[in-house]
Amino acid sequence: MATFAELGLSESIIRSIVNMGFEETTPIQEQTIPIAMEGRDLIGQAQTGTGKTAAYGIPLAERISGQAEHIQGIVLAPTRELAVQVAEELNKIGQFKRIHALPIYGGQGIDWQIRALKKRPHIIVATPGRLMDHMRRKTIRLNDIKIVVLDEADEMLNMGFLDDIETILKEIPEERQTLLFSATMPRQIQNIAQRFMQQPQLISIKATGVTVSDIEQHYIEVTERLKFDVLSRLLDIQSPDLSIVFARTKRRVDEISEALSKRGYSAEGIHGDLTQSKRDSVLRQFKDGTIEVLVATDVAARGLDISGVTHVFNFDIPQDPESYVHRVGRTGRAGKSGLAITLVTPREIGMLRLIESVIKRRIIRKPIPTIVEAVQGQQRLTMTEILRVIAEEDIEKYKGVAEELLAENDSVTLLSAALKIITKEPDNVEVRLTEAAPVRARGMGNRRPMGNNARPQQGNYRDGYGQKADTWSRRKGNDFRGGSGGQRGRDNMRNG
Ligand code: ADP
Ligand code: MG
Repeated sequence: MATFAELGLSESIIRSIVNMGFEETTPIQEQTIPIAMEGRDLIGQAQTGTGKTAAYGIPLAERISGQAEHIQGIVLAPTRELAVQVAEELNKIGQFKRIHALPIYGGQGIDWQIRALKKRPHIIVATPGRLMDHMRRKTIRLNDIKIVVLDEADEMLNMGFLDDIETILKEIPEERQTLLFSATMPRQIQNIAQRFMQQPQLISIKATGVTVSDIEQHYIEVTERLKFDVLSRLLDIQSPDLSIVFARTKRRVDEISEALSKRGYSAEGIHGDLTQSKRDSVLRQFKDGTIEVLVATDVAARGLDISGVTHVFNFDIPQDPESYVHRVGRTGRAGKSGLAITLVTPREIGMLRLIESVIKRRIIRKPIPTIVEAVQGQQRLTMTEILRVIAEEDIEKYKGVAEELLAENDSVTLLSAALKIITKEPDNVEVRLTEAAPVRARGMGNRRPMGNNARPQQGNYRDGYGQKADTWSRRKGNDFRGGSGGQRGRDNMRNG
């Protein structure tokens, strides 16, 4: 791996990279930055968590002038959250060059956006639909765009943005640079590349030990009815700093997060039905640690980069192996280790095996944790906390009372009582969740490509209990994915 200085970056960009705490390039950055700096088109493929944002953000910031007062770069991203996150990172990279990136997404007031646009951002990070709105209103003009980036291109296609992307690309002057980043390479992406890019260089970083394989992966076989108790015990035993619990539907997300709160965990849910401001505030609280457990649907958590997530719990097994990889990739970010535990009902073992075959790795079976282990876990946590307080905090003023108590009780009894008070004992508050139908690994026997049937389609997908699976905006179903089914088979599966 190279240092950033070796890539011939300017002093101000190097300074911001140092500021961001990056020491060495990641493989995708090392390979793409020099090519992109030359102004050439490129396709970058690498699994999630490998630093793709900076891989295009650095050349973007290098090639854009902080002096010019018009939009020079456009980044297209699939979701609002990603747009915001990417804009934040670009603003960090460009901070000393006074480059300003503005996120533009649906759901935010258009008047507000128009005002923000008047401040002359250099880069727009937009979801395709909202960018189209602005193009129609002529509040964003694309005449002077020098660089276009398609980020998470595969996900944008999955969400039905193909037409919008084509329209947008047609509007941008041809003598531009086009960069495309994606975790997987379905045929539609190659199609876009052929039609809208100029001899793009393909940089594909094989999934290495960087992310998903760095993550310890376990599963526990458990009945639907017992899942919630098992989750509670796991949280007690592991006492994760930050964890994400994945559930299949919005309703389950609500139910699980409410049930966790009832049992005394600091938990919140996030899914596509919440208002933008609610989602923002939940994410902010999760990032700053006010909320320790985030309960989410696949779509809500897609692409989010939250550092410090130590545990991923798949309360419901995902609908397809690709989602599994996405979920598990929320932990172990940037080379840190993580643990992912999947709860599997007996009828879902087939799906687990399919996932294993796609990730080419065994997921280790663990027994159902016991209440005793949960209690021990919490006691360990209390003990650690007590030792920390002894080492770090001022406890002088408690010593008088302590001596009084010790005059009449033996120390073990006293300390045990104190421990009982401060330890969060496993809570058995009754909790009822709506049952979820098991996920089946369809196509397993006859080896049909997974892309064809693994995902719910908008409109006709029901989980059997009258609830629609979580879909944001415009997921059009699978028609455009049909052809890519073979592409998405096991060999091309990337840790997106
Ligand atoms: P991707 O888009 O490939 O999923 P991100 O761009 O979101 O990955 O980066 C994942 C995390 O790694 C982010 O927190 C980012 O700040 C961090 N990161 C990126 N590049 C480096 C680097 N060279 N050194 C250290 N951390 C990095
Ligand atoms: Mg990304």
